[in-house]
Amino acid sequence: MFQTAVLASGSKGNCTVIRTENTKILLDAGLSGKRISQALKSIHLNENKIQALVVSHEHNDHIKGAGIICRKLKIPLYITELTYLACKRKLGFLPEGFLFFEQGKSFQIGDLIISPFSASHDVVEGCNFIFRKAGDSERKLAIATDLGFSTKLLLTKLTNATTIILESNHDLKMLLEGSYPSQLKQRVRSRQGHLSNEQAAGVISQVIHPGLKNLILAHLSEQNNKPELAKKTMGDFLKEINCKLDLFISLQNKATKIFNI
Ligand SMILES: [Zn+2]
Ligand SMILES: [Zn+2]
Repeated sequence: MFQTAVLASGSKGNCTVIRTENTKILLDAGLSGKRISQALKSIHLNENKIQALVVSHEHNDHIKGAGIICRKLKIPLYITELTYLACKRKLGFLPEGFLFFEQGKSFQIGDLIISPFSASHDVVEGCNFIFRKAGDSERKLAIATDLGFSTKLLLTKLTNATTIILESNHDLKMLLEGSYPSQLKQRVRSRQGHLSNEQAAGVISQVIHPGLKNLILAHLSEQNNKPELAKKTMGDFLKEINCKLDLFISLQNKATKIFNI
């Protein structure tokens, strides 16, 4: 077993679960402890089996419930040192402690091998991740959200992934015509902001391969995007290249199904 499900995704909170037979972890906890519990229950996962929380960066939509969930489930937190320093007051007391990981250095939790790499985002040390199961060279999960633009590093990391969870944050037209103040529009569009629907399609165009089983679009803006628009932009591209890949959208208030990576 090597599976993932997005419990919630969007600017109001992000949380993803990754599991094997022996290891169950959460990536990010940007929801209240209660919402995380409810989301896990909604897909019939036992929260008491979760063994660790990994955090990608210090924005509130990724850490809001981090301290609470570490205390409630009595699990350790995996975080980079700079990110920890940037949000330690918000995390509060961590009874099981924390472990530092470094970008570019893989680490292991149970039989999950986790490779964090740098994402261009307006934080101290934004991370995207590759997850593998020890002893399984075929399956590979890539999770890339909260990034302003696609880099060579990102494309290299996404190569041969069998499941990709990729940011498709905004529709550029909706963002430009929307109600965000111009400074915030600028921030979202910047190289340290978020990927648009078109940029997400651009990324996939460069890494698509016959072994890609699941593509899940994530971190959709509620203000500047619509699930149908994100799906259409990526769907049109996939149609163009005659790719029959199943496309999924992760949402703010509903967990996805459980995907076999
Ligand atoms: Zn975010
Ligand atoms: Zn962020």
